[in-house]
Parts: sequence; structure tokens; C-alpha cells
Amino acid sequence: MRCTERHYHCRSCGHRFTLPGADLSFAYGTFLGVSATPQAAVLHCFDPTYTEIEALVDDHRRSAHLPPVDAGPLVRSVIGRVFDPDPTGSAFDFTGTHPCPRCASVHVNSRETALPWPHTARPATHHRWDRLTAPAKAATVRSAVNTLLR
Ligand SMILES: [Zn+2]
Repeated sequence: MRCTERHYHCRSCGHRFTLPGADLSFAYGTFLGVSATPQAAVLHCFDPTYTEIEALVDDHRRSAHLPPVDAGPLVRSVIGRVFDPDPTGSAFDFTGTHPCPRCASVHVNSRETALPWPHTARPATHHRWDRLTAPAKAATVRSAVNTLLR
């Protein structure tokens, strides 16, 4: 997938930074993951692994009586933790919210530009996840959800 430059401006410290972006308004169920490097990866909600992780998140939320939260961003946060990171080891964030890399503030403005991002976004991979046993997958998701909702 081709990406464009998305320009960010931190309202807390004034830092300006650029991340890959993409107009996904006509691509239902498609999410762009961005790592700290930054690199980009594309996630599709019809990937069977997406459905598998969504079901494990739902099971855990029911059994642990966790408060109802918006399931989509939670599932995509878990996916960012369990899918393969970029080649430098930095995890992809598929939630679409990118805090300031300098001060970690979430009060960040951004705007899409028409400038081409010089690298392509490849499909998100999950080789690490595929090697886990079923009990290990459930335990990994439980631990990720507990950390994210703490
Ligand atoms: Zn900042």
C-alpha cells in the first residue's frame, strides 16, 4: 500500500514530527499500523488471525468481568502487541493514535498531506503468534488485555 506523509504537531511541547498515513475511508476494515522507527504495516479485519484474537479478547473480558469498553481499539491494541514487530523490533500501533515521541503527550494535532511516504506499507505479519500453542495464545491475550485495561 502507498502511504503519504502525515504531519503532526504536539500541543504540549511544540514538537513536530512526520509519520506514514493513508486515506482508508474507502477501505472497510483496513487499518494502518505505525511503529516508532517509523515503518508502516497494513492490517485487515478479515485476516483469520484478527478474528481469532478478537474471540480470545471477548472470552477474557467476559470471564474476568472487565468493564465494557470499545472492543475495536482494544483488539487492535492487543494485535499491536502480539503481531510481529518491524525489522528493528519496534511494535506497530494499529489504533491510529500516535502520542508525541518526545514528551509522550496524546494532545497532538495532525493533518494528511499529498506528499508521498518513501516506503510502502507491507501486510502485517504474525509468525511469532502462529508458533504459539492454543493455551499460550490465550495466556498472551489475557496478559495483554490486563495490561491495557489496568
Ligand atoms: Zn510533545
